[in-house]
Amino acid sequence: MTRSFYPPQRTLMGPGPSDVSPRVLGALSRPTIGHLDPVFIRLMDEIKALLQFALQTENELTLPVSAPGSAGMETCFVNLVCPGDKVIVCQNGVFGGRMRENVERCGGIAVMVEDAWGEPVDPEKVRAAFAAHPDAAILAFVHAETSTGVRSDAATLCAIARENGALSIVDCVTSLGGIEVSVDLWGADAVYSGTQKCLSCVPGISPVTFSPMAVERIAARQHKVQSWFLDMQLVMGYWGGSAKRAYHHTAPVNNLYALHESLVMLEEEGLEAAFARHALNHRALVAGLEAMGLSMAVAAEHRLVQLNSVVIPEGVDDAAVRAALLNDFDLEIGAGLGALAGKTWRIGLMGHASCERNVMHCLNALEAVLAGQGARVASGLAAARAAYER
Ligand SMILES: *Cc1c(COP(=O)(O)O)cnc(C)c1O
Repeated sequence: MTRSFYPPQRTLMGPGPSDVSPRVLGALSRPTIGHLDPVFIRLMDEIKALLQFALQTENELTLPVSAPGSAGMETCFVNLVCPGDKVIVCQNGVFGGRMRENVERCGGIAVMVEDAWGEPVDPEKVRAAFAAHPDAAILAFVHAETSTGVRSDAATLCAIARENGALSIVDCVTSLGGIEVSVDLWGADAVYSGTQKCLSCVPGISPVTFSPMAVERIAARQHKVQSWFLDMQLVMGYWGGSAKRAYHHTAPVNNLYALHESLVMLEEEGLEAAFARHALNHRALVAGLEAMGLSMAVAAEHRLVQLNSVVIPEGVDDAAVRAALLNDFDLEIGAGLGALAGKTWRIGLMGHASCERNVMHCLNALEAVLAGQGARVASGLAAARAAYER
């Protein structure tokens, strides 16, 4: 009898983590080497270049933070926000609320711009907030709100920040690798992401990038960054471009092999092809769900292709359906969060999990489970198939 842990083989179609490709898992199991080994330093340089490619940026300060997406979020806020700074924070779901929490913990003043859950951030409200608070130093918003399945217009929002002499902090945790993230084109100043969503890597790493203007702001700080671990000035001693690398913390060596492999896979596929694949599988899933008689929670023009919010039909037991999917089909989908708890399911099609087989598996399983609960549903398979053949 072994005490080793063997997880079940699930299909991960929730809000993350997403299915990790066998190639990435293979990379993870390669021999651990020292985090200052010259071979490892070369890998770090490659990872940085691959992140610049994925984020479409030439920002020098681009690196993977050694902790999950939430730490990437915190890295951006603790380095850019000083006590007393005014930050306009857009909230249209769970993650905007966490941004506010970050601002306040940095001693900053959060000016909230609120939109309904399920709606994108309204640029007019952001303009009005800058008009009312011309001293706001930073605009913070979520590009892809995973809690609702909504995409906001990052290019427009970053431009509004620039027009008002403010920097922007953008949450791209769920967008990177699934839809366009063009840091330089947008003129975004601080962007963070995660590895476990559309990069389909294991959880626990958070890519971040800072524009030259953001770097200037960090360099001009009078106040020490309150987090020693996330202080970019210190982290750069290890991740910085110079040949001399100093110990800051022990990098998660094997996780970085995995990140490298997932980025190589993205490069091989090409960004445009990856975005097109996410869009196609989204169209097929939506066609199938609608043919079943289910409806989407978000208006078509604002939907994320990698995170699909579905309205739970009247009389259906939310938790029982998700439990049956998990137990009988090894399929994980997400529950609604916050204001949408009990009202929606969140079906992820992220990274390696965004494939035809998963779309068909999900439609098939959902149909069986709903029918088992006595709900009247049609089959969505033919409609999904037709979407692939168009
Ligand atoms: C998942 C997610 C995060 C947090 O990432 P973790 O890896 O769970 O810490 C932050 N923002 C958004 C939009 C997310 O989807």
